[in-house]
Amino acid sequence: MFDTLQDRLQATFRNLRGKGRLSDADIDATVREIRLALLEADVNLAVVKEFTAAVRDQARGAELSQALNPAQQIIKIVNAQLVEVLGGQARQLRFAKTPPTVIMLAGLQGSGKTTLAGKLSLWLRQRGHTPMLVAADLQRPNAVNQLQIVGQRAGVPVFAPEPGNGVGDPVAVARAAMDEARRKLYDTVIVDTAGRLGVDAELMAQAADIRDAVHPDEILFVVDAMIGQDAVNTANAFAEGVGFDGVVLSKLDGDARGGAALSIAKVTGKPIMFASNGEALTDFDLFHPDRMASRILDLGDLLTLIEQAERTFDVEQSRQAADKLMAGGDFGLDDFLQQMQAVRKMGPMSKILGMMPGMGQMKDVIENIDEREIDHIEAIIYSMTPAERANPDILNGSRRARIAQGSGMQVSDVNGLVNRFKETRKMMQQMGRGGGIPGMPGMPG
Ligand code: GDP
Repeated sequence: MFDTLQDRLQATFRNLRGKGRLSDADIDATVREIRLALLEADVNLAVVKEFTAAVRDQARGAELSQALNPAQQIIKIVNAQLVEVLGGQARQLRFAKTPPTVIMLAGLQGSGKTTLAGKLSLWLRQRGHTPMLVAADLQRPNAVNQLQIVGQRAGVPVFAPEPGNGVGDPVAVARAAMDEARRKLYDTVIVDTAGRLGVDAELMAQAADIRDAVHPDEILFVVDAMIGQDAVNTANAFAEGVGFDGVVLSKLDGDARGGAALSIAKVTGKPIMFASNGEALTDFDLFHPDRMASRILDLGDLLTLIEQAERTFDVEQSRQAADKLMAGGDFGLDDFLQQMQAVRKMGPMSKILGMMPGMGQMKDVIENIDEREIDHIEAIIYSMTPAERANPDILNGSRRARIAQGSGMQVSDVNGLVNRFKETRKMMQQMGRGGGIPGMPGMPG
């Protein structure tokens, strides 16, 4: 799921690596790539247009955070747009003031309704509810039986018409089920309805009749994520024919490009409430737009770090250090230490490489440092005189021996640090002279 989209977006972000500032042309090129990535993922065209326009506007807007490099800024903007397109806040189920809460499932045949009924009932049971399933899908020969099986697996009772009763009347079954639920004090009733292979008027009318008989608190439209943006047409048909309050995406584990997920909330204006990602009853959970967005961007917790960086990082200090560095040779060990300590405030080293402006080119140095080693580096630098810190070139043999002794380290440790520092500085100055701004942090992935 989302693999292609993920790859394409990552490639787009990688192209921004090393850029100091984004020109309008850079932004346009980036937005074009994002547009292609979304279209390729089968996202609805109207959604793509709105999405890319928003990214372009925000990227051009002046209020960009100075703590982030251009690629990170774009990631942040794209992430925010993804969350928005996926529906913003996670939406919880609404429970009726007077039980039972009635949840009706609607959707095409094969969309995963019956499976979902089992998943949702188990999910509710695990949260202290007492659900009952209702087999109001009397169209498909095996549907009642299938619901009974999932009910059994979920440990949830199933209300079904007597076997051998012919076709039966789903509306009557639904009514009888409500009586039963009230009598036996079930607090939620999940009504599985019939679906067809395609949208048709009779199917809609039946679903609407069931709806009017049970007065659902929530109508959930179940849609197979694998059908791509066809999901949008189906959703619109159901919205018109029966109406619904929320969407459940099923088969998110399948080889889908993500178009359904990324189109449906925006186009229908209804939140995606649950996601189903497997055939097991536990492959199911509330849908969290923000988590899904970071999954698509493959960010792990980078976004949290980006936020942390914005909160804790002293932009001015870092910029001064970077300016100093570019201007000439007076970037000293003091600055080096200051930067390293700033990074450290934000979290474990391994995670925050390249998070800071001015630190990107130190990546290679930092990459080989573990947390304990920073203590050592601190100790070594603190054992230097201000003059030595400002200009490590004056560190001759006797000074190095003194520093080693003062910091409790070996002379070879002092040498190692000084050498790495000098190499880094040289590299950064070369880049500065080359016109590129050093300190554009490396990107994830
Ligand atoms: P219904 O006709 O809408 O009731 O759909 P079913 O619940 O019978 O599901 C149709 C098929 O999709 C069944 O084979 C299910 O096992 C399968 N299915 C349902 N949900 C998922 C899911 O989240 N992931 C996968 N891989 N298969 C699913």
